[in-house]
Amino acid sequence: MRGRFAPSPTGALHLGNLRTALVSWLHAKSLSGDWLVRMEDLDRVTSSAAHEADQLASLASLGMRSDGPVVRQSERFDRYRDAIEVLRATGRVYECFCSRREIREAAQAPHGDLPEGAYPGVCRRLTAAQREAHLAQGRRPALRLLTNGERFEVHDLLAGRVEGTVDDVVLQRNDGVPAYNLAVVVDDAAQGVTHVVRGDDLLSSTPRQLLLQQLLELPHPAYAHVPLVLAPDGTRLAKRHGAVTLADLAARGVTAQQVLARLGASLELCDRAEVVTLPNLLARFRLASVPRQPWWLAATDL
Ligand code: GLU
Repeated sequence: MRGRFAPSPTGALHLGNLRTALVSWLHAKSLSGDWLVRMEDLDRVTSSAAHEADQLASLASLGMRSDGPVVRQSERFDRYRDAIEVLRATGRVYECFCSRREIREAAQAPHGDLPEGAYPGVCRRLTAAQREAHLAQGRRPALRLLTNGERFEVHDLLAGRVEGTVDDVVLQRNDGVPAYNLAVVVDDAAQGVTHVVRGDDLLSSTPRQLLLQQLLELPHPAYAHVPLVLAPDGTRLAKRHGAVTLADLAARGVTAQQVLARLGASLELCDRAEVVTLPNLLARFRLASVPRQPWWLAATDL
C-alpha cells in the first residue's frame, strides 16, 4: 500500500491542503503503507524551490514526512514525453492551436457529464493548409488526446460511484510543458502509488486519468476524494480568506499542535481543544469515517 500527497509548490499550504495531506497520511499509515510527497512543479513560472521547502516544513511541523525522496515533476519531462509518444503511436494525439478564448467561444452550453472546460474538438480535423496557416501566424500547438466519448466509472472510497465522459484532454501545453493529467498518471504508476487521496476538486478529472492509465497500460490506483474546506463566504478556502497557513496562525499564537487538533476535530477524530499528537489521531482514524460534507470554517476560525 502506498499513498501520496502531491502539492504544487506555488505558495504556502493552507488549512485545506494540510487537511487533505493529513487524510492521505493517516490513510496510508492506517494500512501500514508508505506515504510519499511529490512536488507538482510542472509550471516553473509559478513554482519555486522556496515554496517547496516551505511546504515540506509545514508538513514536517505537523509530523508528516515523505517515506522516500521527494520527486519533482520538473525533473521528469522525459518520462512525460515518452508517454506522449506511446499515445501518438496509437493515433491518439493531435495538435490543437486554439486559444483559451476560442475554446470558450466554441464550447456549447449543454455539456452532459463532460468535465468543466471540456474541449469541443475544433482542431481534430485540421487540414494541412489550416495547420500551416496557424504556424505561419507564429502559433504553437498544444497536444491533445483524441477521445471517442469513452466513459469511465470511478468507484471512489469517499464520493462513491461517479461516472464521467472523457474529453480531449491536453497532454502538452503550447509552451511545451507536459500537462497535469498526463504527468500525474505517469508518476502515480512510476512511484507505485496504490491509493490516491486528494481534494474533491479533482474528482471530475479522474475519468480522464483512468482513460490515460488504460491507454498507457498502467494500473488504476484506488481513489478517495476528500471534500474541500470552505471559507465563511462558502467559497473554496484560499489565502485571501485570512489566517490560513501555519505561519499566519503562528503569528496569532496558534501552535502547530493546535492546528493539528483543529484538523483532527474537522475529521471528527478529537475535540479541537484536546492536546493530540499524530499517533493519537492515527489510532482513531478510519477512512470510511471522513465526513462527506465540506469543512465550513467560521469567521472566528480565521
Ligand atoms: N498538484 C495537484 C494540486 O495541488 C494535486 C494533484 C493530485 O493530487 O492528483 O491540486
